[in-house]
Amino acid sequence: MNYAETVQIEKEFLDRGFEIVDPSSSADVFVINTCTVTQSADSDCRQIVRRALRTSPDAFVVVTGCYAQGKPDEVARIEGVDLVLGAKEKFHLFDFVDGFEKHSGSADGLGANYHGRIFVSPIDEIVEFGFADSAINPAQIRDDSQMGVRTRAFLKVQDGCDYNCSYCTIPAVRGVSRSPSINFLVEQASRIASAGFKEVVLSGVNVGDFGREKGESLLDLLKALEQVDGVSRYRISSIEPNLLTREIVKFVASSSKFCKHFHIPMQNGADEILKKMRRRYNTNQYRETVNFIRELIPDAGIGADVIVGFPGETGELFEKSVNFIESLPLTYLHVFSYSERQGTLSSTFGSNIDPRVKRKRSELLRMVSTRKRYEFTRRHLGKVMKVLIEDEVKNAKMYGFTSNYVRVEIEANPLQANELTDVLITGASDNTAIGQVIL
Ligand code: SF4
Repeated sequence: MNYAETVQIEKEFLDRGFEIVDPSSSADVFVINTCTVTQSADSDCRQIVRRALRTSPDAFVVVTGCYAQGKPDEVARIEGVDLVLGAKEKFHLFDFVDGFEKHSGSADGLGANYHGRIFVSPIDEIVEFGFADSAINPAQIRDDSQMGVRTRAFLKVQDGCDYNCSYCTIPAVRGVSRSPSINFLVEQASRIASAGFKEVVLSGVNVGDFGREKGESLLDLLKALEQVDGVSRYRISSIEPNLLTREIVKFVASSSKFCKHFHIPMQNGADEILKKMRRRYNTNQYRETVNFIRELIPDAGIGADVIVGFPGETGELFEKSVNFIESLPLTYLHVFSYSERQGTLSSTFGSNIDPRVKRKRSELLRMVSTRKRYEFTRRHLGKVMKVLIEDEVKNAKMYGFTSNYVRVEIEANPLQANELTDVLITGASDNTAIGQVIL
C-alpha cells in the first residue's frame, strides 16, 4: 500500500518538474511516508530524518503516512521536520507548501517544541479513496525493477478498514473502507499494461472488502480485470479468510490470468486467541477455506500471517496454534511478534508475554515456515513452470516467481528479463527453486 501511495506522491513531484533521487543522495525535499505497524515507528522516523539532514542539511522534510496521522504532535516535535501531513493531505502535498522554504526554530503558532507545521484531518472525515476517481493516474503504477524493465505493478484497489481487530491501529489511521469503481480500475489496469508491466498486484488494506460501499464486489472486479488485454498476470496481495468466498476460489481456479496463490491472514491457530483478537472466523472456517483451495487447485501457493505472543497466549495455546498450522497444507508463513499499540483494545488486556518467549515462538514458527516452503518447492522438481523473470542480476543469477509463488533462480540472461519463461525445475534450496530455461 505504501509502495503504491509513495509512487502517487512521486508523480506529484515529477509533474511539477522535480527529479526523484535515491534516498541516500542529497536532495532539496524529503518526503517520508511512514508506517505505524511496528512499535519502532517513532525511532525509525527520527533516524530517517536525521540521516536525510546529514546528507542535505537544508532539505525541507515532510513526514506523512500512518504514523503522521496517528501521532502528528510527536512527529512535529522531531527536530528538522518542516511539515506533517495526514492520510488525506498526503495526496495534496502541494496545497500545503509554499516554495519548500525551510524555517528555523519552532513552527508558527505552535509551542516551542514544535518544528513542523501540522495538517492532519480527523480520520472520520476521510471518505475519499485517495486518488482522483475520475482521472487516469499512472502513478498508481510502481516500477518494481532496478534497471527500468517493468515487471510488476502495484494497483491500489481499496483503502481503510471497517473491522475492529483488537490489536490493530490501521482503522484509526486509514479510516473507513473505501474503493474506486471497477471501471476506474479497469482503465488503470489497461494503462499499466500499455506501460509494459506483466504482473499487477491488487493491493489494499482489506482487499476482500472491495466495493462493498458501492454495491460492487471483489469477484466482479476480478472478472472485469480478466478481460483487460495485455496484463499477463494478476496477484491478489492478501485476503481475509471470511471474505475469501468459494466463488472467488472457483474463479481463480478457472482463470488464465489470476495467480494460483492466496495469502490469507490467519493471525493465530487457537480459537481462544482468535476470539480475543476479534477476528471474524474460527479455525474450522479457516481450515475449510484452505482445504477447498487445495481441492480445486492442488498446486496453489497458500501463505498465512501469524502473530505470536498475543496477550494470554499461554504455552498450551501456542502449542495448539502450532499444531493447527502444521496440520494445514500451507506453503509459507509470515510470522510477527505481537507489538502492543497504544489505543488498541488488546493493550488493555494485560497478561503480556515475555519478549524472549515471543522471540522463541517466532523462531519456531519460522522454522515451520521454512520446512513447509522447502517441501512445497521440492514438489516442483522435474516440472516445467512459467516464471516471470525479474530484471535484476545478482551474482550472475536472475530470479522470478511462478504463478503459485515459488521463487525460481536461473542463470542470468538479460533477454529473459520481464518475460514469462518456461523453466524446468532441477533443484531446490530453502526458499528458492533452481531452474533451467527451456528454449
Ligand atoms: S482486518 Fe483487522 S487486522 Fe486487518 S486492517 Fe482491518 S482491523 Fe486491522
